[in-house]
Parts: sequence; structure tokens; C-alpha cells
Amino acid sequence: MSHKILIANRGEIALRALRACKELNLKTVAIYSTGDKELKHLRLADETVCVGPASPLESYLNIPAILSAGELTGADAIYPGYGFLAEDADFAEKCEASGFKFIGPASSVIRKMGDKITAKNLAEKSDIPTVPGYTGVLPNDEEELKNIANSVGYPLIIKASAGGGGRGMKVVNDETSLIASIHLTKQEAKNAFGNDTLYFEKFIQNPRHIEIQIVADGKGSTIHLGTRDCSMQRRHQKIIEEAPAEGLDKTKLEKTLQACLKLCKNISYSGVGTIEFLYKNGQFYFIEMNTRIQVEHPVSEMITGFDIVKAQLKIGLGMDLDLNQDEIIFRGHAIECRINAEDPESFIPSPGLIHKMHPPGGLGVRFDSHIYSGYMVPPHYDSLLAKIITTANTRESCIKRMLSALDEFFVEGIKTNHSLHQRLLNDQKFCANEHNINYLEEVFLKK
Ligand code: ADP
Repeated sequence: MSHKILIANRGEIALRALRACKELNLKTVAIYSTGDKELKHLRLADETVCVGPASPLESYLNIPAILSAGELTGADAIYPGYGFLAEDADFAEKCEASGFKFIGPASSVIRKMGDKITAKNLAEKSDIPTVPGYTGVLPNDEEELKNIANSVGYPLIIKASAGGGGRGMKVVNDETSLIASIHLTKQEAKNAFGNDTLYFEKFIQNPRHIEIQIVADGKGSTIHLGTRDCSMQRRHQKIIEEAPAEGLDKTKLEKTLQACLKLCKNISYSGVGTIEFLYKNGQFYFIEMNTRIQVEHPVSEMITGFDIVKAQLKIGLGMDLDLNQDEIIFRGHAIECRINAEDPESFIPSPGLIHKMHPPGGLGVRFDSHIYSGYMVPPHYDSLLAKIITTANTRESCIKRMLSALDEFFVEGIKTNHSLHQRLLNDQKFCANEHNINYLEEVFLKK
């Protein structure tokens, strides 16, 4: 039977999904908003459906409109990508209830892993190292709260169990601001997520961000594609990612990889996913699991030759996929630079007309992007324009290749963070792999 996939996303990830569908001979339906008529993948899809106005709430987040588009076109599966509805358990549930296959884990699994306390407890049960803290019910009594906080130790971070996207968190340096911070975070969590359950974690200072890519076929086979280092971030947004993460404690890494596979088995995970950690002084600390494809998946693909999006589609559609860890051969190093439509210094978004652009190319250079000369970057969405990915035998040669790729690449008409990448790739701390998640904002940009 031939399947028809509705791609419920836009931009580069919609194009990435479309390419994978083509390779698998799957028919495609591309949805778009009225502000997105010029998207590249619309010209390549078998069918296209406009699902609403430019505002994301009325289009890419509009569940009834997306499901109607699926029904109208006779799609049998929905591919969510990242962002928008990709980790919305209600959306996955509604897809399932409307007879569509949701390309991702079961809605019940998305729900569990979307609740940070539940996810943390499940991770601990599978021997995944977590950040020391307190996930029990927090009392109302201020003295009791102070005692709990003391036992965790300062500095600590108050987190909303339903939090996400970097919201619903507050760092507390000492007891004087504890109670006020709890009240504030509770109120914020209630307003933003409709759930004010909080927990405490020890605040890890200047860690690296390390993550592990897993693939589970839902039939008992689970493999990992190794690590990624995504420590170069601004406001919790990753800017440069690489694979593998270098310089990790080998014994701890091996144990953590095995524990991640155990977690996937224990929660009957089906699909691709990422388990994220903070890493400091040789220790891994679980922070969350993302139950979707991630922006930075290409670096893992480039060092393994494993097509993560194709695997995701095959698993979601119940097609045969041989997952065998022994067949995953890690080779070389890969780096991804996220090119955003923004001012490289003020970071103010810069939508508008791309008069002219030229992608980089050559050996070991991959360009994942939906932009082209004459494309109008709409102001309504995320500013990601392109991902440049370079692959080489070593980290050092990979950086050199990226610098050369950046020299070739140009976009005229709008501002991009192209020059920020050039400066970062020449930075001594980055080249020595000595940066951490706060380096860009607290050191590099203050130079
Ligand atoms: P979200 O789901 O909102 O992205 P995460 O739990 O993944 O939240 O945390 C987002 C970011 O907050 C992390 O990447 C890290 O920079 C910071 N963070 C979270 N927990 C801690 C912690 N215990 N110590 C230090 N930083 C933390």
C-alpha cells in the first residue's frame, strides 16, 4: 500500500521530511499558511493545502485545520517535525483518534516525557544520572521549604514540571530570595502552562550541553547514534552543534548510553528521540527527553551515515527497519552552523527579500535550507534560514571546512548571523573545545 504523509511544518524541516518521503516513495501533502506561499517544498510536494492565515496560531498550530487538510487529501500519516505541534500530546492523540498515524511516539509517551518530574523519575528508574534535587510535593510552610532547599543546596534552580522552551525556571543563589522566587515561578507556570507544580534542582554552573540520539523501532530494537555537543548557545537557543561530543569520560559515557537505551525499552519508546544532559566534571546530569526530531539531527547523520528522518518515517508507518547497533559505524566529526535571519550583533530578526544567495558546496559540505534567490523571509516564524553542516576526519579539519563553506556562502538583502559564525569558528576557546553553555553570552559577546 502506498502511504500519503501530511507534513505539518514549514521551512527547512518540511523540505527535509519531503526529501525523505520521496526516497521512500511516499506521497506528500504540504500544508502552508497564507504568509508562506513561496516555501520551496510546496513546489516539490504532490499536493498542497493552505491551512490558514500567517499567524502560527491560526495555521501551523491550528489542529482542526491540519486534521481537515489530512482528511481532504486522504493522507494516512502526519509528520510533525520540530517546534509547533511536534511535542503536543493532545495533537498526537487527536491524530490517533482521527485515524492518522502520528509519526512519533505514542501520545501517552509524549505526555509522560513532557512532564519534567515524571520524566526525571522515569530516567532515574532506568539508571540515568539526574541532577540532584527534590521532586516531591512542595509544602506550603516556608520553614519546610527552606529546609528542603538547604538539603538540595544553593545555588539551586526552581523549575516548573510543565515548563518548556526555557520558560518556567528561576535560579536562586541563597535563602533570602527563595520564597519570593517560588511564588513568582508558580505564578508564571500557572499562567504559561496551566500547571503550577514546581521542583528544585541543584544549579550546575557552566556545564556543557551534551545529548544522545536514540532510535527505537517500537518492536524491541533500540540503538543510539552517539553524542552531540550543543554548548554554543544564546538564550538557550543552540547556534553551533557538533557530533560526537569530544573529551567525555569514556566509562561514564558508555554507562549513560546503555541507560538511555534502557529508558527507551522501559517506556516502550517508538521513534527517534534525544536525551539531553548537562555535563560537568565528568558527570552527566539528565535534563529532559525530546520526543521528536531535533534541528541538529544532521550532525549525527553525517558521522553515522544513518538517515534519521527516513528511520522515523519507517518506524511511524510500521515498515521494516533493521536496527542493529553493531552496524552503526562512527566516522569522523560533523559541525552544524545555524544561519538565522538576524543582526549578528543585536540579534534583532531581519525578515525580508533575499535578492541573491549562493549555497556552499564541495566535499563534506551539506546545506539544509529552504531559501533561494528571490525568497521573501516572512516575519511570522522562527528566524532559521539554513543549516550548514560540514564533515571531516577530525574536529580541527571540520572547523576549517566550515570556515571555507562560510566564505562561499552569501545572502544578500537581509541580515544574517553569518559573521558571528565566522568569529566563533576562529575563537580560541571554541577551537580548544573549552566553551560551555554560558560562554557565548557571558564571555564571547562581552569581549
Ligand atoms: P526547557 O524544557 O525549557 O528547554 P530544560 O530543562 O531543558 O528546559 O533546561 C533548559 C536550559 O536551562 C538548559 O539547557 C540549561 O541551560 C538550563 N538548566 C536547566 N536545568 C539546569 C540546572 N539544574 N543547572 C544549570 N542549568 C540548568
